[in-house]
Amino acid sequence: MFDEKLLMTPGPTMIPTRVLEIMRRQIIHHRTDNYERSFDELCENLKLVFQTKSTVMTFVSSGTGVMEAAVVNLFSPGDKVLAVSIGAFGDRFSEIAQVFGLDVQKFAVPWGEPAAPEAVREILDADREHKIKAVLITHNETSTGVTNDIKAVAALTKDTDRLLVVDAISSLGALDLKMDEWGIDVVVTCSQKALMNAPGLGFAAASEKAWAAYEKAKLPKFYWDFKKYRNGILKQSENPPYTPAISLVLAQNEAVKILLEEGLETVYARHKQAALAAQAGVAALGLSLLPEQKNSSFVITAVRPPEGIEIGKIIKDMNVSYDVMVVGGQKSLKGKLLRIGHCGYFNRFDLIKTFAALEMSLQKAGYRFEPGVSLAAVQKAFI
Ligand SMILES: *Cc1c(COP(=O)(O)O)cnc(C)c1O
Repeated sequence: MFDEKLLMTPGPTMIPTRVLEIMRRQIIHHRTDNYERSFDELCENLKLVFQTKSTVMTFVSSGTGVMEAAVVNLFSPGDKVLAVSIGAFGDRFSEIAQVFGLDVQKFAVPWGEPAAPEAVREILDADREHKIKAVLITHNETSTGVTNDIKAVAALTKDTDRLLVVDAISSLGALDLKMDEWGIDVVVTCSQKALMNAPGLGFAAASEKAWAAYEKAKLPKFYWDFKKYRNGILKQSENPPYTPAISLVLAQNEAVKILLEEGLETVYARHKQAALAAQAGVAALGLSLLPEQKNSSFVITAVRPPEGIEIGKIIKDMNVSYDVMVVGGQKSLKGKLLRIGHCGYFNRFDLIKTFAALEMSLQKAGYRFEPGVSLAAVQKAFI
């Protein structure tokens, strides 16, 4: 009906006007003081979002690209890693490691559950010869709406020779992740989720322990070579090594400023409040979450569809009739899930609109409930 859709999807997410305004400007050259000033500022501010003193590197990439970059920069063929998977994105990390010839021990948890840190501890303890060099894990599993307890898992690898590599693609900038304090070795993320920018930028930061692993890593790399990017930022070599996504970098600088102006604690609290409101709305409709409520993510709410309702049709109708976009399930959860993103740039009324559209589509499909019941629940959670 209108040109603009409300994306309540877990990436891409909506983009603040201040950021859009920067993206529409004429291109500038990247070998200029103007660009460099903005990029330097972004690099410094990203450290605050990553909660690290390490250099945060920027790549022209989607999220998957930087997951692959982490693998090629840290390991040699045959290195053993523990890939913890609680859903589609955990599976992807495991698959990338396999493709590059690592010896992957996969710890797969039923979809809808988080990885129990105790279970990870048992696996690591059983590896008496310390063959496992690293743990790969997803912070927020976007496919199932479940968040892993990274702090507890990091406590298992911190102060050991093992690395912890975290896919924080749908979480960084929305959920608290203390890279340095918790002892995480590599954090990767990208621009189009909580960082409120268009798709196209990948980011990675590595601890001192990870940089020591880099020195020994033999997997081939050229474009993804972390050191070229870090040395550029540290002004020891060309900065950046290759043509950056100039417009996106300038836009990202603005988006990160907006995040910091709101304040990270406030941003985290906003996501939590939205999640609790969404959970209340779902319950009011007589529907259930895929995960147990205590494990349900603060950036995405995964809902089981009502019995006898074709959820794909609901999702499509919300989009076509009401201009609100949510998504379905992935892989084995296809047709079995409705996922509402509340990630990055959104406000309370965006969530209220989403439930209004959901109610209208459900009513049309013949699902019975008292109209307005989820709106009342969401409003109450926001008061
Ligand atoms: C979105 C997402 C990815 C993949 O990112 P792309 O930008 O699509 O490559 C990986 N991991 C998680 C947890 C995600 O949410």
